[in-house]
Amino acid sequence: MTDFPAVVATGTGPAQLRTLTDADLPDPGESAVTVAVTHSSLNYKDGLAVTGTAPIARSFPMICGIDLAGTVETSTDPAFAPGDEVVATGWGLGEHLPGGYTRRTRVPGRVLTRLPDGIDPQRAMAIGTAGLTAMLCVLALEDHGLTPDAEGSVLVTGAAGGVGNVAIAVLSRLGYAVTASSGRPETHDQLRALGATDVIDRAELSEPSDKPLQGQRWAAAIDTVGSTTLANALAQTRYRGAVAACGLAGGADLPASVLPFILRNVALLGIDSVQCPTPVRERAWSRLAADLPMDALDSLSTVEPMSRVPDLAEQILAGQVAGRVVIDTG
Ligand code: NDP
Repeated sequence: MTDFPAVVATGTGPAQLRTLTDADLPDPGESAVTVAVTHSSLNYKDGLAVTGTAPIARSFPMICGIDLAGTVETSTDPAFAPGDEVVATGWGLGEHLPGGYTRRTRVPGRVLTRLPDGIDPQRAMAIGTAGLTAMLCVLALEDHGLTPDAEGSVLVTGAAGGVGNVAIAVLSRLGYAVTASSGRPETHDQLRALGATDVIDRAELSEPSDKPLQGQRWAAAIDTVGSTTLANALAQTRYRGAVAACGLAGGADLPASVLPFILRNVALLGIDSVQCPTPVRERAWSRLAADLPMDALDSLSTVEPMSRVPDLAEQILAGQVAGRVVIDTG
């Protein structure tokens, strides 16, 4: 039986690098697909899981990592065949299903999406949950009616993070004017290089305002921060605009008034990537292949070995990681 390395949460303390065999992989009990995992990625939620800061894993031992990409080895699901390049994000990977910090896994076929032409497993993980979420936000705004000729720019908060970086690159490619909000001045040049037309300090949005309606600045917004930042984004969005809310980097509360909704017809669009249905995921991956410039993706991502996952988990929680980190499981 072949050994392979994995990052495993045991329920006490931080997750550890362990050596596993196929006998350690649970039987999914439904259309099992064995995947040679070549790459995973690092997300904020992975930081919480690997450090043990929040109870992400529901049972132990649990292979951590909410994302994975690789090649199908064997499949009892007729939708997949050996050699298919696949990606899985969310769906409880690293929570109640084995996650992506492993060289090999066995998962139910329903969590896998076939990669579109133009995106290989490494780039799929440069995108990962964060990039998929960014595209889900863009799709939600488009479905609401947003077009590049709308008056005002599209605000992206938490711009130097993974979701923010991918959102900027996609919106810019689609022809939108993009205002990036970031608390890290050292990232401003890179945000402009990704396509931001304007960069503002996040303090401009994070202070509470006593005005439930403020000057109309944004055609739309993608918010990864929540709390007062989301409240201010809503209060500054133009008539009939929309805000796609996906994150809580600044807090899970929402100290807002209903006035933007009932006087400006502003829409608040909730975005979840974890339980997102497969057809929506397929649409998002195919749009990422079409609308995310791969040179921009390469510029915002770095590749790290699996042995560095424990250190990187601490760093992402401390806000010290910019862009996307791909984990090479080999
Ligand atoms: P990152 O850690 O890569 O980026 C988060 C960014 O938020 C940071 O880079 C920083 O941006 C900003 N930020 C951090 N702390 C604060 C603060 N206290 N106040 C204001 N801004 C802050 O995370 P991701 O991009 O991967 O994820 C962003 C958010 O979206 C997270 O809350 C995550 O949990 C959530 N998320 C939700 C998903 C869903 O399905 N709904 C899926 C994926 C992520 P800067 O330095 O530019 O200021």
